[in-house]
Amino acid sequence: MSLLVTGTVAFDAIETPFGKTDKIIGGAATYISLAASYFTKDVSLIAVVGDDFPASYIELIKSKGISTEGLQIKEGEKSFFWSGRYFNDMNSRETLITELNVLADFDPIVPASLAQPEFVMLGNLSPQVQLTLLERLTNKPKLVVMDTMNFWMDIALEDLKKALKKVDVLTINDEEARQLSGEYSLLKASRVIREMGPQYLIIKKGEHGALLFHGDQVFSAPAMLLEDVFDPTGAGDTFAGGFIGWLALTNDISFENMKRAIIYGSAMASFCVEKFGTDNILEIPREELMERVNAFKKLSYVDIV
Ligand code: AMP
Repeated sequence: MSLLVTGTVAFDAIETPFGKTDKIIGGAATYISLAASYFTKDVSLIAVVGDDFPASYIELIKSKGISTEGLQIKEGEKSFFWSGRYFNDMNSRETLITELNVLADFDPIVPASLAQPEFVMLGNLSPQVQLTLLERLTNKPKLVVMDTMNFWMDIALEDLKKALKKVDVLTINDEEARQLSGEYSLLKASRVIREMGPQYLIIKKGEHGALLFHGDQVFSAPAMLLEDVFDPTGAGDTFAGGFIGWLALTNDISFENMKRAIIYGSAMASFCVEKFGTDNILEIPREELMERVNAFKKLSYVDIV
């Protein structure tokens, strides 16, 4: 099934207890589309970069079969730039720099050939852009998943609330769920947030896994226990890409299948954090992915009567 992805395509500079990078390829839509491309071959990107964005990075995205027809390159402008630093526990990070640059006046033009996607992933960027993109589609997609972060809650809460009314699934982390709902209990938070629009809510809890809420149902997935966590950047987006990629591959949006999608997303994210940036999600052998999916099954399976 076809999947349309938006979000940032960016330069990231990352600092962790294990090292530092200069500006490397990053951005929510980059991670999402790379991860989703393992599952569905029909992935298209709607995003914007400046003319400082290396052609080799765009070639890298294309080499995974991702359509860049909807990727705008703005002459004389700079790409979105984000810089962050992780602390020793790697679960918390500090944003050092967010330079919107070309994102500040991004008009998400949807070419006619991409305007009828079956699945849509609104990766992290301005909620106004997320909403505009949805309004420009000429069909009603089977499923719309949205990701966002505290940055947009702080500066564009009203737009975010408008966008939330139009999406089926929201993915955010635990801290953001608490901020958005004003509730500490994640159960209460999940109710408040779902009243804002999305019928499904995924709360990402970093190294503690993820929760899926729908109606009265809750599914809890663990995170993979890893020897080395090098750089968590992009883990949430890689998770989202694996999640929606699996749903698009199977064309099944039942709660049961969303549980599987969460495991595939978590397995993809576990690769992401083992190296800097996108390094470890460019070539994941199928057998290794399946080994991790099976490890997830074992991790929380219990035969109880
Ligand atoms: P994650 O670690 O999955 O939360 O996402 C990290 C990615 O999000 C990085 O590659 C950044 O370029 C991107 N990012 C950081 N801040 C923002 C923002 N305010 N809007 C959109 N993307 C962002």
